[in-house]
Amino acid sequence: MSKEWGYASHNGPDHWHEFYPNAKGDNQSPIELHTKDIKHDPSLGPWTAAYDPGSAKTILNNGKTCRVVFDDTYDRSMLRGGPLPGPYRLRQFHLHWGSSDDHGSEHTVDGEKYAAELHLVHWNPKYSTYGTALKQRDGIAVVGIFLKVGREKGEFQIFLDALDKIKTKGKDAPFTHFDPSCLFPACRDYWTYHGSFTTPPCEECIIWILLKEPITVSPDQMAKLRSLYFSAENEPPVPMVGNWRPPQPQKGRIVRASFK
Ligand SMILES: [Zn+2]
Repeated sequence: MSKEWGYASHNGPDHWHEFYPNAKGDNQSPIELHTKDIKHDPSLGPWTAAYDPGSAKTILNNGKTCRVVFDDTYDRSMLRGGPLPGPYRLRQFHLHWGSSDDHGSEHTVDGEKYAAELHLVHWNPKYSTYGTALKQRDGIAVVGIFLKVGREKGEFQIFLDALDKIKTKGKDAPFTHFDPSCLFPACRDYWTYHGSFTTPPCEECIIWILLKEPITVSPDQMAKLRSLYFSAENEPPVPMVGNWRPPQPQKGRIVRASFK
């Protein structure tokens, strides 16, 4: 693999294991969800997010995705309930998307690929630091939300409008007073399983909470995501599209549903 990992043929998901052995582990994400095989678990309660809009800090283009970073130095923006053993702190959210509207999500549902997938990353503060949480089986909780193309989502536009300031790799800008729960769908039903980050080093520390109901965004809103660049300002422009990892082997893991 030449230099940094990415999503191109020479450094894409098929190569990640060469430098990041976790990528061939037994608990990798994403996976394919086959809903007929998923059992309802009545012990799975509702989850709640209580986010402080003042904890939003920065939006950045890291050359792989666009990410919004939150202040996680104390219990400000918290996720609780559902499959979680305790409260988790919001650290960042980001997205994965495709080159066109018919693919781009990482998880698939009965073979369906969505246009994009939003990941809200939280960590378990009982482990004191984010870095320590990454090494624990229950260290991280990610809420995954599918995006499909349809009606415009007004709340998403606030985020999209900020992308003009971070077109190229390495750029960041202030992004404050934002509560990402405005992006949640109406229905809180979810699937849950134990998996990994979908980007190197692919640590297997994640309790996934995948929401059944997608949100809709407009074709223009999807196009705006694709107006970003993987490349830096001083490099030949490479559009940021196709930053998703394909499904990985399930290897006997159980997916549970919060609903019948
Ligand atoms: Zn992600």
